[in-house]
Amino acid sequence: MKRTAYLADLTAAHLDQSITVQGWVARRRDLGQLIFIDLRDRSGTLQIQIEPESPAFAEADRMRGESVAEFSGILRLRPENQRKAGSGAYELIADRATLLSLATTPPFELSKGREVAEDIRLKYRYLDLRRPEMFEKLLLRSKVSAAITAFLTAEGFLNVETPLLTRSTPEGARDFLVPSRQMPGEFYALPQSPQLFKQLLMIAGVDRYFQLARCFRDEDLRADRQPDFTQLDIEMSFVEQNDILDVSERLLRHLFRAVLNQELPDPFPRLTYQQAMDTYGSDKPDLRFGLPQIEVTDLFRGGAFAAFASARSVKVLATNELTRKQIDELERVAKQNGAGGLAWLRREGEGFTGGISKFVGDFAAELIARTGVKEGGTLLLAAGEWKKAVTALGAVRNALRDLLSLAEEGFQVAWITDFPQLDYDEDSGTWTYMHHPFTAPHPEDLSLFGTERQHEIRAQAYDLVLNGFEIGGGSIRIHDPAVQQQMFGAIGFTPEAAREQFGFFLDALSFGTPPHGGIAWGFDRLMMVMSGAASIREVIAFPKNNRGSDLMAQAPSAASTAQLGELGLQVEVGPA
Ligand code: ASP
Repeated sequence: MKRTAYLADLTAAHLDQSITVQGWVARRRDLGQLIFIDLRDRSGTLQIQIEPESPAFAEADRMRGESVAEFSGILRLRPENQRKAGSGAYELIADRATLLSLATTPPFELSKGREVAEDIRLKYRYLDLRRPEMFEKLLLRSKVSAAITAFLTAEGFLNVETPLLTRSTPEGARDFLVPSRQMPGEFYALPQSPQLFKQLLMIAGVDRYFQLARCFRDEDLRADRQPDFTQLDIEMSFVEQNDILDVSERLLRHLFRAVLNQELPDPFPRLTYQQAMDTYGSDKPDLRFGLPQIEVTDLFRGGAFAAFASARSVKVLATNELTRKQIDELERVAKQNGAGGLAWLRREGEGFTGGISKFVGDFAAELIARTGVKEGGTLLLAAGEWKKAVTALGAVRNALRDLLSLAEEGFQVAWITDFPQLDYDEDSGTWTYMHHPFTAPHPEDLSLFGTERQHEIRAQAYDLVLNGFEIGGGSIRIHDPAVQQQMFGAIGFTPEAAREQFGFFLDALSFGTPPHGGIAWGFDRLMMVMSGAASIREVIAFPKNNRGSDLMAQAPSAASTAQLGELGLQVEVGPA
């Protein structure tokens, strides 16, 4: 290798020496007869000076922005008034230049990358990734994954790969299917997670497994979702819930300390699902700010305000003075999240004005005492069935965070525990699993299966929440085939249907299964939060846009008739 060092690794030891550097032309300036080039590599930049009489001049003169070049010459200190930190203290007086690869004019100026439309950045991702801030994110990601591997390996975990061409693993999303050529009309599914395989590894006696696993879920995309993404997948045998939480906490504390030099609490705070929903209206509450929901159902019960008089739940948020425009905007958020509306009150002296104030005269003092609302402050109220009311107000709470910049700097982590085992889908009138069908219920709630109190069954399931993002989730698993059948029954699988879809797994459970459990972390999401990025796409080298397209490689794309023929497929719809 001809290169003496990365640009950022040049030190005083290289001064007045003849060195060779390589990189990209970040900027070229012609000053009188002199050419100045800012050369960039992944570590930093260095100013190259090419004098008119230098043998390098003619070659340097051919160089355009983003061309790849090599320079040799003597490294000097820059004049004192121009010295900057790191390699900014030096300049190379070039006596040899080689244009290694001439670049055509790039579609956007890299130094303006932040302002460039994201579609352009995605189409030319390899140029986007040349920007130092993008490289920093790749570097952080690589460091975190190396630290995870080192930590878990030291704790006796085995890194085991599981198949990508497999059959459906239910995690609540649609599958991506891959047609089989050898067996026309049959399909593989790409894994939504390695769930069944990691459980099979426990049955196989592996005892401690981890994998940075690629997973695929066909669902609507958001800023924190991609159709293919990476999970840190973990499973352990002979454990209880606390063992999984403990290893996860130690690992996350280690990563934050080692990579970001940040301390996370020991232990992490814990909230039950019930507490999280009741207080913050979310099972992934952002704890960087307070603003808890307060219960006021009793105050309105049977009262003059008809909409609230018989509501199962009335909850309130007490906040600062808001304008009508802001309240209207928050009402829109509440409605989008399932509420019929958002009622409001403005505190004036010992009473209230505006909104529904004419209905609260009787208990104004109690409302003030319970909510602690300040003079001029606003109360925002939602009512309805408990989950609907708290969820809508939870969305309003997050909107207030953004509107009033309430979130404090830093990281707030928590466990959410005791999720419900089952979820009732009102649209279809059916029960479904909340986490996945292999999650174990609390032993003391087992007898509630099939009764009218089925919704009260608590799962041994937990989520890890960081700054309002769910960055992990897992559970203790069912290891008793009879309980697994009971669970399938509760979500409407007949024994035949369960056997058809998961026969191999049910068989495996019957051959000696240790108690086991695990967790999966959303690795991309964790990287997004750790790096302070606004979108998951910023921490993935080659992401898809929010329509699931790879704009650079142009995927998905149509298949040729020949390919379709081999697969025994006919396509009825044209391209979208
Ligand atoms: N398989 C689960 C998921 O992908 C995580 C787990 O239960 O370990 O969300």
